[in-house]
Amino acid sequence: MPILVMKFGGTSVANIDRIRRAAKRVGVEVAKGYDVIVIVSAMAGRTNELVGWVDEISALHDAREYDAVVSSGENVTAGLMALTLQEMDVPARSWQGWQVPVRTTSIHSAARIEEIPTDNINAKFAEGMRVAVVAGFQGISPEGRITTLGRGGSDTTAVAFAAAFGAERCDIYTDVDGVYTTDPRISDKARKLDRIAFEEMLELASLGAKVLQTRSVELAMRYNVKLRVLSSFEEQSDEAGTLVCAEEEIMESNVVNGIAYSRDEAKMTLVSVADRPGIAAAIFGPLSDAGVNVDMIIQNIAEEGRTDMTFSCPVGQVARAEKALQDAKTRGEINFHDLIADTNVAKISAVGIGMRSQSGVAAKMFKTLSDEGINIKVIATSEIKISVLIDRKYMELAVQALHDAFELDKVA
Ligand code: ASP
Ligand code: MG
Repeated sequence: MPILVMKFGGTSVANIDRIRRAAKRVGVEVAKGYDVIVIVSAMAGRTNELVGWVDEISALHDAREYDAVVSSGENVTAGLMALTLQEMDVPARSWQGWQVPVRTTSIHSAARIEEIPTDNINAKFAEGMRVAVVAGFQGISPEGRITTLGRGGSDTTAVAFAAAFGAERCDIYTDVDGVYTTDPRISDKARKLDRIAFEEMLELASLGAKVLQTRSVELAMRYNVKLRVLSSFEEQSDEAGTLVCAEEEIMESNVVNGIAYSRDEAKMTLVSVADRPGIAAAIFGPLSDAGVNVDMIIQNIAEEGRTDMTFSCPVGQVARAEKALQDAKTRGEINFHDLIADTNVAKISAVGIGMRSQSGVAAKMFKTLSDEGINIKVIATSEIKISVLIDRKYMELAVQALHDAFELDKVA
């Protein structure tokens, strides 16, 4: 029988009532003839509560015990979902990660899935079980310890199962009814997309449109897993939600398909560093060793052998970045006159696969911002994305203006 993966996020399993509603949706797919693998998150808020308890006991916790505690929310919902299905006379059972087993690396709290053997679950399907309910977000390390995949990791569990079992599709049930051209809370003209390409979704996911964990999209792209994002609170239909799929499956597309933003950015400038071979390596090596995620970089034109170097990173990493750079200065590896952190910036990005073949997108973006009197501090581009750093106070205005300028409220 064809296999479908259905993943339910925290809000979709937040209480017994919602678990029943989710189980009904699973029942509908089973009645259509699918064997279903259900991946569940913990009940809404539960993982945060568990993390809070761990932090309260021990700030510098043993990551293996963190995983033991934090993975437990999913165990509860997996069992409850299996019970609910059984009450509906659907043959179902639950599986914790280690029982499958979902084999991962041993990087606790940020483990990667290495292998998902299919024989255990397939044997049960062959015996007549119709639904395997699997606890998302968790696995087992080569050392036999419980691991977790990073916050939001159940999405990745779902896609990995869809790939391993050759599922027809992977449906991600969440509290929004799909992927939007921008955040509807910022622009009331935001439009739900029927389809979006993997590459675009990847940019939007990593830019802070928090619908899907970024790694789940990478995985879906690599294994060509069709992903559908939909709400478990809306009527069930085959057309609902947004399909994340290969570019070839999208007939019409706007040049720009999404305006993303990220509020938590910082801009750091090293004033007057020596312009010499190896200077970039001397700056960004220590930053990388310190775990700072550098995003945009600009190096100014040098004057009298010295130059300014500016980069952006998440605002929460500024202290770490400062320390890494001051340490490098103390060691004599770099020299700068000043280090300035601007923590009042936001990043706005226009994303679209159409940019590959159409020019003028950057010009239009800059003109739109200039018409609104918004100053651009840093610019970065890739094949399908243009990002700018601006003052955070203009973030909403910029998103709205760009959404209007690129007419994202209209279908191509
Ligand atoms: N429960 C985990 C979290 O909140 C994993 C997930 O829901 O995807 O991050
Ligand atoms: Mg999530």
